[in-house]
Amino acid sequence: MKKLLLPVFVLFTTFSAFAQTAIVNRDTQIADLIAQVSADSLRAHINGLVSFGTRHTLSVPADAKASVGTKGLGAARQWILGKFNQYAKQSGGRMTATLDTWTLQPDGRRVDKPANMGNVMATLKGTDPADDRIFIVQGHMDSRVTNVMNRESDAPGANDDGSGTAAVIELCRVMSKSSFPATVIFVTLTGEEQGLLGAEHLSERAVKEKWNVEAVLNNDIMGSNNSSDTRIIDNTRLRVFSEGLPSVLLKDTTGRIGQIQRFGNENDGKARTLARYLKEIGERYVENLDVVMVYRNDRYLRGGDHTPYVQRGFAAVRLTEMNENYEHQHQDLRTQDGIEYGDYPKFMDFEYLRKNTAVNLATLANLAKSPTVPQQVTVDVRNLTNSTVLYWQAPKVGKVKGYYVLMRETYWPVWQKKFFTTKLGMTLPYSKDNYYFAVQAVSEDGNEGLPVLPVPNLR
Ligand SMILES: [Zn+2]
Repeated sequence: MKKLLLPVFVLFTTFSAFAQTAIVNRDTQIADLIAQVSADSLRAHINGLVSFGTRHTLSVPADAKASVGTKGLGAARQWILGKFNQYAKQSGGRMTATLDTWTLQPDGRRVDKPANMGNVMATLKGTDPADDRIFIVQGHMDSRVTNVMNRESDAPGANDDGSGTAAVIELCRVMSKSSFPATVIFVTLTGEEQGLLGAEHLSERAVKEKWNVEAVLNNDIMGSNNSSDTRIIDNTRLRVFSEGLPSVLLKDTTGRIGQIQRFGNENDGKARTLARYLKEIGERYVENLDVVMVYRNDRYLRGGDHTPYVQRGFAAVRLTEMNENYEHQHQDLRTQDGIEYGDYPKFMDFEYLRKNTAVNLATLANLAKSPTVPQQVTVDVRNLTNSTVLYWQAPKVGKVKGYYVLMRETYWPVWQKKFFTTKLGMTLPYSKDNYYFAVQAVSEDGNEGLPVLPVPNLR
């Protein structure tokens, strides 16, 4: 398979409103990896997870040395670690797998005894020693039934969050054979249902150890195609939730929120920018799937493991199926009034899960292959003109073929035009007052990095 050669100044549109031909330019390496994501493999991962009876966080034995075949999360996490170690063998020494453990004291909420906690992580080290970027993909291993403190009853958690956990395992399996300039971390988290405990731990660790985490893809409930009550069936749409106003700025006193308000950038925070990127890249590689951006951090009454990251200033989004069936989430296993309750694999759609997993792969691989972000991206606003002048500096790390200047109407959800240049600046005959702009660095393979919004040059 040869990569398509295209004129580099071609405009790319994702919406038919512009009535131009949409050009699909796929990186052969990424397309080949996506072809390896398998519905059967995902099903096998989930059947394996379900075999541990319950994966309730407090089901881990005090000594936490449970081996495969035992019931509970202690055994399940060893099983996942074994898989990660197996995949690491095909990485040429670049991947390492660890169980990151700590002890949590009773918190008066959803932890009632000292708990042995553990996240299972596989790190695929980047090949460029100068590139310190980290991209995290995660799901939560733990499961629950109706009573969140019930650690005894079977809680299959096939979809919540066997689906996200299986996606992480499958991504690790497929991507471990490849190398990328930047680092990718695959994580299955503990303690989500007890209060986002595993994500709190890992995001805090990322802060303390000064990890340069540029994106977190949190996968939670993404393998069932139908809804309770409204009874919709649809496996062609995936939701990505992203916060608007960055929650990390809510307590900020340096005036950054005022700037966002003044320039109208409330839809261009790190999480929203990542969601827009994920939509574009995911739809580029995965057929019969629309990524639907939801302009809120999460659903009513529910939380997720992306939130501890956004609260610490990282770009993190939540990927979740389009329609949820509450008969199959957080339910005691039973049949009542003719309805079978419980989170079983038989209620899932593994082809849908395959597509949703592939969206993660496309996004992660494109990010990990891209150059780092352009520096000092600026829009000149010193004069009253009807055009837009942008300038920037080269990225610190990564070989660059050139840059895309992105443009969209202020009311439009996705980027509408891309202008390619090899220079460090561009003048466009469109008013800076009427459009949003951003700049992306593009690798020699054509993989674009995260867009950077220009800072207004007011002097
Ligand atoms: Zn969940």
